[in-house]
Amino acid sequence: MPKKLKQKKEMVRSPKGMRDMLVADIRYKEKILEKAREIAEFYGFQPIKTPHLEHTELFERPLGDASDVVEKQMYTLKTKGGDSLTLRPEGTAPIVRAYAENGMVSWPHPVKLYYSGSFFRHENPQKGRLREFHQFGIELLGDHDAIMDALAIKVLYLAITELGLKNILVHINSIGDRVCRPQYKKELTAYYRKKINYICKDCKRRLKDNPLRLLDCKDPGCQEQKAGAPQMVDFLCEECKTHFREVLEFLDEAGIPYTLDHNLVRGFDYYGRTVFELFLERGAKEKGQEKEKIDAVEAKPENGAAEEPSSIALGGGGRYDELMYILGGRPLPAAGGGLGVERIIHEMKLAEISPKIPPEPKVFLIQIGPAAKKRSFMLLEEMRKAGIGVGESLSRDNLRTQLNIAAKVGAKISLILGQKEAMTDSIILRYMDEGVQETVLQKKMVERIKEKLKKMPRTARVAALPEIKPSEPEAIS
Ligand code: AMP
Repeated sequence: MPKKLKQKKEMVRSPKGMRDMLVADIRYKEKILEKAREIAEFYGFQPIKTPHLEHTELFERPLGDASDVVEKQMYTLKTKGGDSLTLRPEGTAPIVRAYAENGMVSWPHPVKLYYSGSFFRHENPQKGRLREFHQFGIELLGDHDAIMDALAIKVLYLAITELGLKNILVHINSIGDRVCRPQYKKELTAYYRKKINYICKDCKRRLKDNPLRLLDCKDPGCQEQKAGAPQMVDFLCEECKTHFREVLEFLDEAGIPYTLDHNLVRGFDYYGRTVFELFLERGAKEKGQEKEKIDAVEAKPENGAAEEPSSIALGGGGRYDELMYILGGRPLPAAGGGLGVERIIHEMKLAEISPKIPPEPKVFLIQIGPAAKKRSFMLLEEMRKAGIGVGESLSRDNLRTQLNIAAKVGAKISLILGQKEAMTDSIILRYMDEGVQETVLQKKMVERIKEKLKKMPRTARVAALPEIKPSEPEAIS
């Protein structure tokens, strides 16, 4: 007798903030991506995939040293060759790199791209905040026009709302450009310097490194100072003002509800002019009230937070006309944004929206005996090639067990292959609702199944399992 193994080691677990996605969530994810892709393709976006790892510089340069992502959230590794690579924390910089590297400058403009995949940020895992999460994103490269900003918002907004989620409100702001933003930063810094004794530790650091992020502070103690701070909108130059007004007009025209959010600055340094986030507002709003200002509430910590936050960001983006220049290329006007897949899944579950449910196969293959079992592979392949979905339970050998499974999964036709059928190249087709069966040659099987399925009512429910008659394969094999 072999000696019983004693288990000493603890089972290895997934890294903190990174989790397995099981079937139900994958079905939700498929539904989300399918919808988002359908809308993006309609509006002329084309798919792109970039690597998960990029040179660290690609993110360090444009996101800014003082951004939270660069400062503490990047997963960076040294390769054996001495390169510094980073797991992508966001999708825009890689797309801009890919544009330059793949000569997209010669493509018709604007170049419209969409992508989806995993992104990695070493954040404090909380409800709605993971270290590996999925995004669907779109980018419009090579155009200044305000309608591009509005189109990015529209595609993301439509994707969420057409999935069935309600109370989606776009928070929008303009953070100006290199002409008008410096003056605003100066004013903001001067204002906060006077308040230095009343702001949190993080804000003191932001005041030095990245004053715009002062507006992003969630510390309750800083809210009063924030409310009195100068607003970017009062400092916009004429061009930025016109651009922003046009974006809002396009949103009005498209019937997309938005609220002006003067504190919206977003996490990355490369943004200029339009910045936006799509929030799901839980306190249902009546129509017409959408434009009142609603403070963005971030996701609450996981521990002790049974309650859902009053609003949650499902997506965000903006214009980034300077990103290409920061990366070393010629300036390229561009706008885009992304959706957080896990957060949308969570909201769909709360709203009881069903995931993508693949149709149950209407045909079920039953095999009895070694020769039949061997033949099953070939028959299954034949049906796969013919586009017929087939269920099976290849590891079972008993007829009744397999028939029970076929009935349980709602099969309309059971294919019964016994020893005799395997030897005579025939197969029994048992029509589950009617409780009748016929034997056909295997080479006629696909044709006969198709014929029968075509005639079956789509909504017919499976009747109780019919009695097995004496002439059935149990007696045959
Ligand atoms: P961002 O790239 O930060 O603009 O994020 C766009 C969207 O992705 C957000 O609105 C969230 O829905 C989602 N998201 C961002 N960071 C995370 C994260 N750490 N975990 C889960 N979802 C995230």
